[in-house]
Amino acid sequence: MTLTSADLVPADAPVSRSWHPLSLLLVLAVWLSTLGNLPLWRAMWALTDTHGLRTWLGLVGMLLIVLSATTVLLSLLVWPRWRKPAGVLLLMVAAANSYFMFTYGVVIDPTMMANTVQTDVREVRDLLSWSMLVVLALGVVLPGWWWWRQPVQKLPVRRLLGRQLGLAALGTLLMLVVIWASFQDLASTMRNQKSMRYMLNPFNTLYASARLVIGQTAQARMPLQTIGEDAVLVRAPGSSQQPPLIVLVVGETVRAANFGLAGYARDTTPQLRQLQGSGELAYFADVSSCGTNTQVSVPCMFSHMGREAYAKNDTPYENLLDVLQRAGMQVLWLDNQSGCKGVCDRVPNASTLDLKDPALCPDGECFDEIMLRVLPERLAELDKARGSGPAAAGTVVVLHQMGNHGPAYFKRTPADMKVYQPECRSKVLQDCPAQEIVNAYDNAVRYTDHLLSQTVRWLKSQPRPTAMLYVSDHGESLGEKGLYLHGMPYMMAPKEQTHVPMVMWLSKPLQSQLGWDGACWQKQAAEPLSHDNLFHSVLTLAQVKTRWQKPELDVFAACASRRP
Ligand SMILES: [Zn+2]
Repeated sequence: MTLTSADLVPADAPVSRSWHPLSLLLVLAVWLSTLGNLPLWRAMWALTDTHGLRTWLGLVGMLLIVLSATTVLLSLLVWPRWRKPAGVLLLMVAAANSYFMFTYGVVIDPTMMANTVQTDVREVRDLLSWSMLVVLALGVVLPGWWWWRQPVQKLPVRRLLGRQLGLAALGTLLMLVVIWASFQDLASTMRNQKSMRYMLNPFNTLYASARLVIGQTAQARMPLQTIGEDAVLVRAPGSSQQPPLIVLVVGETVRAANFGLAGYARDTTPQLRQLQGSGELAYFADVSSCGTNTQVSVPCMFSHMGREAYAKNDTPYENLLDVLQRAGMQVLWLDNQSGCKGVCDRVPNASTLDLKDPALCPDGECFDEIMLRVLPERLAELDKARGSGPAAAGTVVVLHQMGNHGPAYFKRTPADMKVYQPECRSKVLQDCPAQEIVNAYDNAVRYTDHLLSQTVRWLKSQPRPTAMLYVSDHGESLGEKGLYLHGMPYMMAPKEQTHVPMVMWLSKPLQSQLGWDGACWQKQAAEPLSHDNLFHSVLTLAQVKTRWQKPELDVFAACASRRP
């Protein structure tokens, strides 16, 4: 008698070697909690220098917590129908997050998420690099390929449901036990190292996305709230009635630490210094930003609320530009970046994205000066559109700069304006010596100096009272404390990311229209200020009155009271 292989295998054994669904989930959980969280483990390892038994116990405890939490998550979320794509998606989230945390020292919190969602092709292109491709290949393609090809046993629905929920319950129990056992150490670590909460892949992304979606739906459901419904123009009696022209320049990623006028060792602002020397310009030395990224800072700068209220707010409100427009002013937003983040939705606006100026837009991206190039014709269009309507009570133009947008700082300056050499020309900043990063960054600051003085020069040629107010939206880390770029949660952000330069130039005709003397407005320049002051101060500068203006936040309140 001969035995066939079929005779040797028990009848109820699986025919081929395929995974039990729970085992496969556990494999993914182990990958995600170990390799998928390398930045977290590195950060925890770096917490102490001693690395004794206590450190190891802490690490093992934390690993058990992360592993059981991930297992719970997977058992609740990953079901046969979307098992394969879900696994690959989670691998992608972990790998991409880890790459950005390692490379730039950022963490993944809700505002970082909002930034990611609102990015554009240019910004993404700036971040792509070879090292990122390698990380994605090792962290997504290889394990993803393996994951996709694994055969999995098909369990009856009820049995699978029972098993996965059972695993989730078991994971929860294990997590609670370990948390209970290591509570003291864990609690103090988490309290002192708040950023670690945002390092936990993939929970950081899930949490941030959920917060973002909930916030956006809440906002979308609420009607836009009107502000400054009572806004009117108030010109000082007896002053010239010529409509003023005010240019607000919204800077990008320029930190005060590298701004010549702020006392930086390098004179990155020689042209502004000249204007300051002739008494026409004030540098505001102590200004903090509202947020640490564009997504938060730009809308907050134009909001009446101020940083603290803005951070908690879910209601959509109109902003400074709506109020100015309601008072009868002509408003125009010119954008050389990835959009105005909703600020210019109800006022005339234009983007430079599609402009093809061979000198100012080589390689498809425009230098900031393009905005000055198109400004006169855009203003003429506005005048024409108004036709024979009532004369505008003045004009406010916003120039939204590309400024020092990183990490490709070297892209922000034309070749003939690169004063500091050699320049870091890699998008992966760690590939460059620190000084080369600073050189590229400083060249871009110097280009902003050029842009602002060109703006002043143009304003001087206009036959009306004029002013320019520049302020950066947030700062930047250039490797200090191992951090690069910006976007740290505000409460733990270093000063490099929140201390921003602010500059005001005021023409003599506007000074006399406002009834201000030079000493008065320049005296405010040393005061501690922030983006909170902008809404209330620009109203005074534009001579618009509304009950929404808070005099205590108006930088120029003291000057305004000196009106004749
Ligand atoms: Zn920004």
